[in-house]
Amino acid sequence: MTQLVFATNNLHKVREVNQILENTEGGTLLEKFNIVTMSAIGHTTDLPETHETIIENAIEKARFLHKTYNIACFSEDTGLEIDALDGKPGVHTAHYSGTRDPRSNIDLVLKQMGETPHRTARFRTIICLILNDEQHIFEGICEGKIRFEPSGTEGFGYDPIFQPEGYDETFATLSADIKNSISHRGKAMQQLLEFLKK
Ligand code: IMP
Repeated sequence: MTQLVFATNNLHKVREVNQILENTEGGTLLEKFNIVTMSAIGHTTDLPETHETIIENAIEKARFLHKTYNIACFSEDTGLEIDALDGKPGVHTAHYSGTRDPRSNIDLVLKQMGETPHRTARFRTIICLILNDEQHIFEGICEGKIRFEPSGTEGFGYDPIFQPEGYDETFATLSADIKNSISHRGKAMQQLLEFLKK
């Protein structure tokens, strides 16, 4: 059995990835791979994210963990791209307002967007897998729009203002199962799982 470390300290991401594994054919996969968090290998600090694109940051995080511990691992980096803000917050999604506080980040986005009717946006997730010393990239995109006001209490981050295409509710109002089945992270994870199954 190969140990595969998920390179994040974000417990929301860990929970979603675990839900995705449980709800797919993760069972079969888990016979081959033991997916653990960074704390399982004793790494509790944040990983370096020094680049200006989410793909470079995902690669940097996975390579750092692989180089430091010589382990198989996958990292995940996500950005929210809002068209009316020229693709921002993008790579700065996590600390857009200068803090990690989701409420401050949401407030800043809503303030910058004002009353503009152009609300289209997308979440983009990049997963970087390093397995047998080889690097593989997977991408998941979820199109949607930014609501004028927050709504809902589920999920995390910008979920209260993001309404995925085809739904009338925000991610923070939809169930975890629905979010995972259509989300950026869910789509990128499905590709990773398909690859691991081979
Ligand atoms: P990073 O991928 O760790 O750099 O963090 C990206 C940031 O994007 C997180 O801190 C959240 O604020 C936000 N984020 C990532 N995924 C989601 C999601 O599924 N819903 C809402 N916000 C998210």
